[in-house]
Amino acid sequence: MEIKFLGATQEVTGSNYLVECDGRKFFVDYGIYQGRDDDRKNKEELFLSPSEIEAVVLTHAHMDHSGRVPFLVKRGFKGKIWATKPTCELLNVLWHDSAHLMKEETAWKNRKNSRKGLPLEEPLYDAMDVEDALKLLSPIEYETENEILPGVEIRAHNAGHILGSSALSITLKEGDKEVCLVSSGDLGQMESIMEPAPAPIKKAHYALIESTYGNRKHKGLADTRAEFRSVVLKALKDKGKVLIPSFVIDRAQRILYELLLMQEDGSLPELPIFFDSPMGVKATELYRRYSGTLSDEVQRFAAKGRDPFAPLGLTYVSSPDESRKINAVDFGIVIAGSGMCTGGRIVHHLKHCLWNPKNHVIFVGYQGYGTLGRRIVDGATELRIAGEDVAIAAQVHTIGGFSAHGDCDDLLAWAKNFETNPLFFVVHGERMASHALATNLQQAGICSMIPTKGQPFQLLAKSVLKDEAPGVTVPEVEVEETEAVLVLNVLSRLLEELRCNLKSDMKMEGIMPLLTSSRTLLEMAGDKAKKMK
Ligand SMILES: [Zn+2]
Ligand SMILES: [Zn+2]
Repeated sequence: MEIKFLGATQEVTGSNYLVECDGRKFFVDYGIYQGRDDDRKNKEELFLSPSEIEAVVLTHAHMDHSGRVPFLVKRGFKGKIWATKPTCELLNVLWHDSAHLMKEETAWKNRKNSRKGLPLEEPLYDAMDVEDALKLLSPIEYETENEILPGVEIRAHNAGHILGSSALSITLKEGDKEVCLVSSGDLGQMESIMEPAPAPIKKAHYALIESTYGNRKHKGLADTRAEFRSVVLKALKDKGKVLIPSFVIDRAQRILYELLLMQEDGSLPELPIFFDSPMGVKATELYRRYSGTLSDEVQRFAAKGRDPFAPLGLTYVSSPDESRKINAVDFGIVIAGSGMCTGGRIVHHLKHCLWNPKNHVIFVGYQGYGTLGRRIVDGATELRIAGEDVAIAAQVHTIGGFSAHGDCDDLLAWAKNFETNPLFFVVHGERMASHALATNLQQAGICSMIPTKGQPFQLLAKSVLKDEAPGVTVPEVEVEETEAVLVLNVLSRLLEELRCNLKSDMKMEGIMPLLTSSRTLLEMAGDKAKKMK
């Protein structure tokens, strides 16, 4: 039994883990990369034939977890794709949207390529591949056991992140050995508006835990609401346009709900609000249909016969023509995807609005390294957007508390729910965020390690199920630069030797906690050494 970390290691996108049990292989998530160098990474050859993969299980519908599945199908994958019911419905919307965006982007690139005499490119997948992938979906209910392959069972727990999101318990059986592996997927906040708190999981030998906000704390709910309200009202005073780049699933519905609440208490008048997304209508419809899986607050609102996602003045914009017409509007709120401005309608709105100091951009979500959104947030004064140089004079705001991800306290609280002291693999976070969470876990007496891309890890039955906490606290030591390098070299050689010598379960059991702690220690030392340079 083995897990191989193929994506989302020390980065936030491209979630993909290969699990092998009794000679059978399956994927947990197969997401796309977003940001720098994404095109190359997404088209990266698999080191194994897609027909060797017998199943795919998806934690949720977000593209960074599910987005490459149609590509896998295009390459010959024939197995089943397991996900919760609402996730399957969202995938129908998201994959089609993604294929459409890829088609437009490839056509645009190819127009440029042909002028330069460069070879033409092909999109990652098209609508036909999406249709083929949708036929392989196998919807499951929360909190039920599902045998996905002989010897492999999965159970989905509500992860409180977006509609249909799940943390998965995966039970692997090989002969008389049984290993329980949990994949957190993306975890929501403990105190949340749209979704319930992530369901606690008590048992696992190993657990993958996301670490998007492993080194940050969100503002509280009341503060976030107050901040959002004041930014919106201040921005509207300038009589310009307010752009809200937003994930069209979950975040956009939350924004609509917040604007509605502002109108309810009289602080916001009816005004033009454009939800500029072809899939916005469909996604919002799914949020209405599955409102029973949402938070109590939203359920209470819906129970009064009210639509929680319909503020006054709202227009759903579907066609590209209607979207372009918004360019002529100079006052109002525009909500459009993608959330990190890596594509979608928001790009053309930014191109048309960023030069004007009367306009405002409100970021309500995480901006990944290398994305257009991140460069705007980081204070760029000029950017090339969709082939044009644009000076940035618009006012930029960031509201972090809306995150559909838990913060460092939420992540730690979720990890502490386990009663079996699993070994945690810290994934899905930028380097510093993963390190912070790994350290926090260690300091709480929980074993953790940060896998590197492509790293295989043997899943050993019961080997790390211990009653006592094996965590080792990391001492703070000041060292000279040359000393640090020397120690690091020796340590890494020793570790490598250890890794080669570890052949049996017996030895692994004794050495595992020490090994994982050493690894964290090594990486921290590495960071320190870098800082000293
Ligand atoms: Zn997600
Ligand atoms: Zn994610």
